[in-house]
Amino acid sequence: MLNLIIFGPPGSGKGTQSANIVEKYRLTHMSTGALLREEIEKETPLGKEAKKFIDKGLLVPDDLVLRELYHHVSDHMDASGFIFDGIPRTIVQAGSLDRFLNERGIPICLVISVEVEEEELFKRIMGRGEDSGRSDDSDQIARRRLEIYKELTMPLISYYKSQGKIVSINGMAPVNEVFKKICCAIDTYLHSKEVLPVVE
Ligand code: AMP
Repeated sequence: MLNLIIFGPPGSGKGTQSANIVEKYRLTHMSTGALLREEIEKETPLGKEAKKFIDKGLLVPDDLVLRELYHHVSDHMDASGFIFDGIPRTIVQAGSLDRFLNERGIPICLVISVEVEEEELFKRIMGRGEDSGRSDDSDQIARRRLEIYKELTMPLISYYKSQGKIVSINGMAPVNEVFKKICCAIDTYLHSKEVLPVVE
């Protein structure tokens, strides 16, 4: 099973690249942001609770997100692989996801870290807000999401580095070039089962 994490700050293009990866490698997309937005749309108790955090640009509590994710992964155990997008975002989530997947014999193979400069991220999030109407894409909220990323999510780079699973991709390039580099990293893994430290 090919299990990937696509990792990066808000606005790094994770969603777009995930869609490309899903199509090419036939993986099942696990986007916690999308799952939570669906729950909000359906006005479920989880959706109502999650909305309080999302609208403020805060992370939804670990246990709520993990419960929702595991429910969906368990429903798709016939998948040929998963791409985790927007999860994990905290060390607690990373440890829990590792345990969950390892116990099922389907560990994470590769963590693709898409790197984009901060001002560019901010511009992209603001531009996206105009198109998407997403309530969490406004100015102040965007800044807060980036701060939270730096504080709580960035430490995961060291976590996965110590497992030898991370590959860094320069996300400032045009979308199709970024995608090519991602494919190169995945194909290298598939051929050698080894992770190249950096793909430029
Ligand atoms: P995203 O679509 O991945 O940018 O997620 C949108 C929002 O959903 C985030 O800003 C968080 O409020 C919430 N969210 C998504 N995934 C997670 C997660 N793994 N942990 C906590 N909150 C999350």
